[in-house]
Amino acid sequence: MNFDVAIIGGGLAGLTCGIALQQQGKHCVIINNGQAAMDFASGSFDLLSRLPDGSAVENLPENLTALCNALPAHPYSLLGAEQVISKAQAFEDLAQSLNLHLVGSSEKNHWRVAGLGSLRGTWLSPNSVPTVEGNEPFPHKRIAVLGIEGYHDFQPQLLAANLVLNAQFTHCEVTSGFLNIPQLDELRQNAREFRSVNIAQLLEHKLAFDELVKEIVDSAQGAEAVFLPACFGLENQEFMTALRQATKLALFELPTLPPSLLGMRQRIQLRRRFESLGGLMMNGDSAVKAHFDGDRVRCIMTRLHNDEEIVADNFVLASGSFFSKGLMSEFNRIFEPVFYADITGVAGFDEKDRFTWTDNRFSNPQPYQSAGVVINAHCQVQKSGQFLKNLYAVGNVIGGFNALELGCGSGVAVVTALTVADEILAK
Ligand SMILES: Cc1cc2nc3c(=O)[nH]c(=O)nc-3n(C[C@H](O)[C@H](O)[C@H](O)COP(=O)(O)OP(=O)(O)OC[C@H]3O[C@@H](n4cnc5c(N)ncnc54)[C@H](O)[C@@H]3O)c2cc1C
Repeated sequence: MNFDVAIIGGGLAGLTCGIALQQQGKHCVIINNGQAAMDFASGSFDLLSRLPDGSAVENLPENLTALCNALPAHPYSLLGAEQVISKAQAFEDLAQSLNLHLVGSSEKNHWRVAGLGSLRGTWLSPNSVPTVEGNEPFPHKRIAVLGIEGYHDFQPQLLAANLVLNAQFTHCEVTSGFLNIPQLDELRQNAREFRSVNIAQLLEHKLAFDELVKEIVDSAQGAEAVFLPACFGLENQEFMTALRQATKLALFELPTLPPSLLGMRQRIQLRRRFESLGGLMMNGDSAVKAHFDGDRVRCIMTRLHNDEEIVADNFVLASGSFFSKGLMSEFNRIFEPVFYADITGVAGFDEKDRFTWTDNRFSNPQPYQSAGVVINAHCQVQKSGQFLKNLYAVGNVIGGFNALELGCGSGVAVVTALTVADEILAK
């Protein structure tokens, strides 16, 4: 099988890169073995939420420059703050063309309401999620936070109690309650199946839509705004829009415990765009090994096509971190299992010394979270001390930064993905 570009991993980074390349006429394959981090994420995209000293980031360009000075190994530092902003803006355009319905800008972060009622600084959020700018008060005074009877992945009382502790919500009267949705009774037999995705699937055909609308209106008890768990609308926001029109309320949805419909919807849209542009998805398959010609990758082999080489001019490693098995660990080593690329991390981290992987204070950033492959300013991957000419890395498989600590996971994914697409197109 011959392609212009073979991409390993179909998460945010792999799909974004694939779309940008297909749009410019490159024939790509994405080999993807399972769910991605997006399927568990909040639906908001973080570009840079915190600095290494823990302070919250508001102005993005200014703080990106500060970060690049403070952490020279961070992928943003390798690319430069200007490039990061320019690629972030390019992603905003792409998201708009995909109808991801995001609000926010690469100028400054906004606050989104998190599942337990605290506020998190972020770059882009679905417009169905409650957000506020800076210290501005939330525009609605009376808010009802409504869970679903029997559904445990969203706790309205906790959310309501915490919400009013934020300065932007102190003027609000927040009540909480539960929706009774008889259509979901069959899910109650098995608590493990009572998840956001199962709820959305059962309600998708709108068989008892009018009853649901009445239940929301009655439970809101006169509130202007209603916060619901993100359980309505499997593939896009159409269900929420229909509910909003029918209830005539300011309806918002909040991330639940995973799986996350907000993130899954985005991945579905990205994947559809990639395929509609002619890209090939090899789902359920994994890249297992590579063959090299000097400083180039010649081909990769996959688990399901183990007697057929996948040959390409360029290869993109978009396999994520430990969570997605893009990185793996054994007792005395952390490694990248397809190309066996060189591994790096934050200062003091050594991939062959497990005593450097963790900090003994549990709540501190953990050094293993910064592990990943070594790249240069072109995002080319280093193996045995040498940068490979046609192997690039994008997203969370890259080392040298802690996405959890800094709140920059999605930003690194899209910025490196669009950078690599440009690198390949410029060849
Ligand atoms: C639980 C969780 C919640 C998060 N929440 C947020 C959030 O709210 N906001 C935010 O900005 N960021 C969040 N992040 C971070 C952000 O989502 C990720 O940094 C970003 O989505 C990573 O994208 P990626 O494409 O690099 O990797 P991934 O999404 O991990 O995708 C990698 C893909 O590669 C596949 N793969 C791996 N190895 C192979 C192989 N050998 N062959 C084929 N396929 C392979 C995997 O199955 C997976 O589908 C979260 C991350 C996690 C883990």
